[in-house]
Amino acid sequence: MSNIKTNEEIEIMRENALLVSMTLAEVAKHIEPGISTSEIDKIAERYIRDHGAEPGFLGYNGFPNTLCISVNSAVVHGLPSAYRLREGDIVSVDCGTRMKGFYGDSAYTFAVGKISPSAEKLLKATKESLFQGIAQAVEGKRIGDVSCAVQSHVEKCGYSVVREMVGHSIGRKMHERPDVPNYGRRGQGLKLRSGMVICIEPMINMGKKDIYKERDGWTIKTTDGSLSAHYELTVAVGKNGADVLSTFEFIEKVLNNKDFK
Ligand code: MG
Ligand code: MG
Repeated sequence: MSNIKTNEEIEIMRENALLVSMTLAEVAKHIEPGISTSEIDKIAERYIRDHGAEPGFLGYNGFPNTLCISVNSAVVHGLPSAYRLREGDIVSVDCGTRMKGFYGDSAYTFAVGKISPSAEKLLKATKESLFQGIAQAVEGKRIGDVSCAVQSHVEKCGYSVVREMVGHSIGRKMHERPDVPNYGRRGQGLKLRSGMVICIEPMINMGKKDIYKERDGWTIKTTDGSLSAHYELTVAVGKNGADVLSTFEFIEKVLNNKDFK
């Protein structure tokens, strides 16, 4: 299967990516101390279905929910539950949609109320590393250029990169080849070509890189219990630069309005 998408396919993927972005903005409105993660999941599911799409994760490899919601030391793949968010938590919300035969996939780590300055720094550095990676998503560069840009930024800040979970290509399937690791060497790996659509998604731990899977069979956590952050955007490789299909703009508009209240 070719990993190059046509312009028409990219436009359908953009629709998916924008719906994911809007769903995360809807979620942003409800991130408050006291809301349970399963309530957040229901809000997202309703929003996606109301917009004529299906939750991309629901049933994927048997995943039972719409969102992956990963709190504090959970890295990714957290299951929505009766847990109620608390002031000071950080919560990573990963969302996928499927519409017109294609997928969209993005994630954002939210602060619940006021968080510690060290947690704030982790979120900032992780998000920055994503944009450093995106800057490398240009025809003629290599996967390793993206990987290295992410890794070097967060390691400079004293954080560590999860190795076992990686970004990926996306299209008619959620996870397509090639993978997009968050660690690697400049100039190594597959050459990027215009029309490749990739999900760049740094998963960054405040402490050590090691992770384990919880007994629930899904939730990935840091072994040392340190906080972990996760941001993800869907990006089409372009000749002169990346075409970022999903966006944090809607989310951040919601968050900025909250700050003024
Ligand atoms: Mg994702
Ligand atoms: Mg992904």
